[in-house]
Amino acid sequence: MKPETIIKVISSSGEPYDVHFEFSDNKFKVHCNCPAGIYGKLCKHKTGLLDGDLSLLFNKTDYEILERIHEVVKKSKYSEIITSYNILKKEIEVAQKKEKKLKEQLEQSLKTGIDIS
Ligand SMILES: [Zn+2]
Repeated sequence: MKPETIIKVISSSGEPYDVHFEFSDNKFKVHCNCPAGIYGKLCKHKTGLLDGDLSLLFNKTDYEILERIHEVVKKSKYSEIITSYNILKKEIEVAQKKEKKLKEQLEQSLKTGIDIS
């Protein structure tokens, strides 16, 4: 793999963002120049590309490079962490739905009256 690869990704604003992949010493770094990415935060462009999401590609011809990157990442520690992270996010989503339902029940019971018999 080349020491530095840039993949352009589509953005909601229309202007593509650049996601940089830097390879050195059996490590690689990923940077994105979107508003979140420039501060080193996790953004959907970095995580999406590392997950091999072809729909993010601004130039569809980059798919081969992306597939190669995805293959490398799949075997890395990153892959384990992102899997745990995604599972946790789903659990939070489920918990938030439960919270909303319970809150509605509480509101309703205060409105219609708490049964104290
Ligand atoms: Zn980004």
